[in-house]
Amino acid sequence: MQERTRLDVMGGAAERPLFREGLAEDLRAELERRMAPAADALGEGRTLWLTKAKLTNLHQRCEGLFLANELDEGVFTYGFQLAVGSVVHKAVEIGVYAGDMTEAELADRALERLESGDDAFASYLGLLDPVERAELLGEATRQLSWFRVTFPPLERSWNPVVEWPLRVALAGDRIVLSARPDLVLGGVDRDQPMRARRLVIELKGGQERPEQEDDVRFYALVMALCHGVPPFRLVNVNLQAGTARVQEVTEDLLRSAVRRVAEAATKAVDVLNGRPPQLRGGPWCRWCPRSQTCTASTAREESVESAVRTEPPA
Ligand code: SF4
Repeated sequence: MQERTRLDVMGGAAERPLFREGLAEDLRAELERRMAPAADALGEGRTLWLTKAKLTNLHQRCEGLFLANELDEGVFTYGFQLAVGSVVHKAVEIGVYAGDMTEAELADRALERLESGDDAFASYLGLLDPVERAELLGEATRQLSWFRVTFPPLERSWNPVVEWPLRVALAGDRIVLSARPDLVLGGVDRDQPMRARRLVIELKGGQERPEQEDDVRFYALVMALCHGVPPFRLVNVNLQAGTARVQEVTEDLLRSAVRRVAEAATKAVDVLNGRPPQLRGGPWCRWCPRSQTCTASTAREESVESAVRTEPPA
């Protein structure tokens, strides 16, 4: 299974694409041209940060949710899925350097690290009884086991980087793109710098959603702008369902990401400058700070305790 994953999902020995010189400069120029009206409308002294979650809120969910989060109306708190995801991510990170630990040991160690280093996580953990804590560890261990059975061991020569923080400032620093891919493998081709050698792997629990493919396309764009060359391939791994979705990175893919980012910047600045947000109720109302007061909310009858943000702030 690991060999099949290495070949079919991770790209194995397939030839890596060679992108043209100047691609990153062209992408930046197109982005800045498309975002210029939004950057101007933002005005002096204000900076708009765009992340994958904000892009999803603006395009696929609800502008009201974007605005409420932007105005810091909610209090961030963990939910079960997010807590499991955090433990798995941290365990994968630890596992890169401690490959001889079992999945249960890795999950345990990851939970301890998060508890001591993340106040919101520690608060969430403090609310769990011993059975709920065991369920959290059990689900994280199960997802981690699937990952380790399916994916080959991450060799250090592959340069694995977990949760790589990447930022690109555009339009005179008024708009910043911020990304943090779960796992990046591969490095730079010193002889052919435009030969793409990096692979992005995004680990998810929960339901598969189409916007998850947009998330990794956003990562590819940010990496292209940061490094001058994009990754060669994007993989969305669903740890719960045990599936992997693969996208090859092309210039067309990067340009579609440019358009999506620019349109999001326009929407974001419009609502921040006072245009009433277009409300779109959906499952996301459950974690919207306005869920109990918004006329379009689908979660008004649910308890007030659930009306808190369950996505990390940018
Ligand atoms: S409650 Fe739902 S519809 Fe209303 S602003 Fe929040 S996400 Fe949008």
